[in-house]
This record gives sequence, structure tokens and C-alpha cells, in this order.
Amino acid sequence: MASIKNLIVGCGISGASLARKLAEAGEQVVIIDAKDHIAGNCHDYNDNGIMVQKYGAHIFHTNDKEVWDFLSRFTDWYPYQHKVLGLIDGQFVPIPFNLNSLHALFPGFMADELEKRLLENFGLNKKIPILQLRKTGNKDLEMLADYIYEKVFLQYTLKQWGLAPDQIDPNVTERVPVYTGRDNRYFAADKYQGIPAEGFTEMVRKMLDHNDIQVKLNTPFDKTMEYKQLFYTGAIDEFFDYFWGELPYRSLRFQFAQYNFPKFQQSAVVNWPCNYDWTKSDEHKYFLNDQSDKTIISYEYPEAFQRGVNERYYPIQNDESASLYSKYLEQAKSLKNVHFLGRLGDYKYYDMDKAVARVLELVKEIAK
Ligand code: UDP
Repeated sequence: MASIKNLIVGCGISGASLARKLAEAGEQVVIIDAKDHIAGNCHDYNDNGIMVQKYGAHIFHTNDKEVWDFLSRFTDWYPYQHKVLGLIDGQFVPIPFNLNSLHALFPGFMADELEKRLLENFGLNKKIPILQLRKTGNKDLEMLADYIYEKVFLQYTLKQWGLAPDQIDPNVTERVPVYTGRDNRYFAADKYQGIPAEGFTEMVRKMLDHNDIQVKLNTPFDKTMEYKQLFYTGAIDEFFDYFWGELPYRSLRFQFAQYNFPKFQQSAVVNWPCNYDWTKSDEHKYFLNDQSDKTIISYEYPEAFQRGVNERYYPIQNDESASLYSKYLEQAKSLKNVHFLGRLGDYKYYDMDKAVARVLELVKEIAK
């Protein structure tokens, strides 16, 4: 490859957003991806009228108007509001666990009493991390907290991370707090939420559709490539040949099933904390309300990440990995013409909006 002005490695939402911003600033961009498709882990495709998300459920949600406005230039949105049910004690109840879940699972008089205690202690419509709920000092609430911990978090987290909730960074389980209200939405706090009306892949395709962006698929990065500026969304430890050691990641395996009936479950995503070996089942027709006599499900099986065998999905954040990452970050700072971004480049558990916000910040920094 001849010398390139701006080389972006990785064609996911971070790389594609950056490509567009740089091109609009008058830069020539080449963006490469080892895979044979664009849009990274939010890649979707149409299978006989059902938009299937190849790498599990992705729902765009944000409070960041700048990010929302930027993406809205490349797509209309289906105003989807995400709801998740979890199978707890034989009942499909709202997750995050809220007052509706409480009343569905406990006898009326107990649920009333526990609701009263929750509201006295925390107030209405408040979010309480499960690890905090376990420490109120109130006997009734601690009984409830132990129940939720056991039934919603413990088994799920053991499957998801291979670790118990108190062995992982508290930020992880805080993503799904207990909620002292009746709003069943998973991302109730976010003003903007939706699925691109023609899918994520089409949104990314439109982003990349610019005269100064050249896309090369099936093209892994290699160190002989020449560039003036490199923007790397791959794993930062891999970039540095694991000099300080391997950063830990968790992987996922997806098992797809097609059923010859219209509907399998009552929400797009069902969490299965206590049953089976999968954590979630995703019913894809929900995301864009696709109509079909058939339905397509993917079951998500978390597994250990193994180089060359499967892919990195989640950084495993703990003190040890943070200190390892900080060594790579220091090393990265010494390279003036290389920037790292994205979940793997920044080693952060980004949601899509945070990945795009990071790009918008980076572009502002570079322009200074
Ligand atoms: N979690 C859980 N039970 C649930 C949902 C979430 O224990 O029913 C915990 C689990 O540790 C998970 C974390 O909360 O990894 C964050 O969940 P989230 O749904 O945000 O994960 P993602 O969608 O990123 O896989």
C-alpha cells in the first residue's frame, strides 16, 4: 500500500465516524478492516425480511445531542424503546429489577411492604446499584437485596464474566441498577433511543459514502503499511505485540436458531440468569418491528477470549488490567502520529454513543 495520509484501522462505529469527520475536514482517508463487512460489531443484514444483528443486540441510546445529531445525518430512526425481561423463579419480569418485577415475584403483602421500605430509603424513581442495596442495614431490604443479587446478578455474572459481581469493577453491574419506579425500559434515562430505520450497516455505509474515503475490507493491518497518521481501533495490546502482557477480554459465541412461527419471546431480549448456559436470547424482528411468519433468535454464550480462536468483546476491567492498560497508554503517548480509539483501542466498556462521543472529541483535539 503506498503511503497514506490518514489510515484508520477498523470499520466499526468508531472508525467509520472518524473517517467521515476527517473527510469532511478535507482529509484523505483510507479505512481498512480485516473482516469482509463494514459496521464492526453493530453489523446487521436482512434475512428474508428480518434485520439480523450478527453480533448480538445493539440498541442505540444516548443523552448526547451532538452524537445523536451527527448519526442522524446518516439515518432515520425507528423509535424503538428497549425492554428486557428476565426469567426469575419461572416468571418473565422486567430487568432492570423494578417495582413491577417486585410485585410480579412476591406475594402482595410482602411486595407492598418492600416497596414501602424502598421508597422510604431511596425515594421514587431512583437507581440503586445492587452492591449498595446489600448494605442498607435494613433487614427487609437486605433480604430483598440478597434475593435480587442471587436471582438476577450472581448466576448471570458468573456466566458473563466467569466472576461473581463483587469480583468485577462495580461500574459493570451499576449499568443495570435496581430501580424504584415502574418504567420498564432498559435505557429509561436516555432521551434519544432507536434503531437505524434501514439498519446499522446502512447507516455506516452512508457515513463512508464520501469521495475522500476509501474502504478496504478483508485487509488486516500490518506493520509495513505506511501512513502519516494512524487511527487504530483494534486491541492496543496487540498493536504493541503484547510487550507488557495480554490485556484480559471476555468473548461471546452466538448460536442462531430460526423458528417457523411468528414469535418466540415477549421482548427483543430475554435474560436467563439462572437457566441454561446462555445469558441472553435476542429476537431480531423486534428491533425494526419486522413482520414475518418466521422468527430468528440468537443465543449469547459468554466464553473466555482466546487469541486466534474467538474475538474480543468486553474488556475485563479490574485493578490489574487498569495498571497494565496504563503502561500501554504511556507507550501510545510517545507515538505522536498514532491515535487509539474504540472499545479495544481505549480498553473501555463503551456503549455506541460513548464511542462516537470519543471520536467527536478526538477530532476537536486534532484540529487544535
Ligand atoms: N447483569 C446481571 N444480570 C442481568 C443483567 C445484567 O447480572 O440480568 C450484570 C452482568 O454482570 C452484566 C452487567 O450487569 O455483565 C451489565 O449488563 P449489560 O446488560 O449492560 O451488559 P451488555 O449489554 O453490555 O452485555
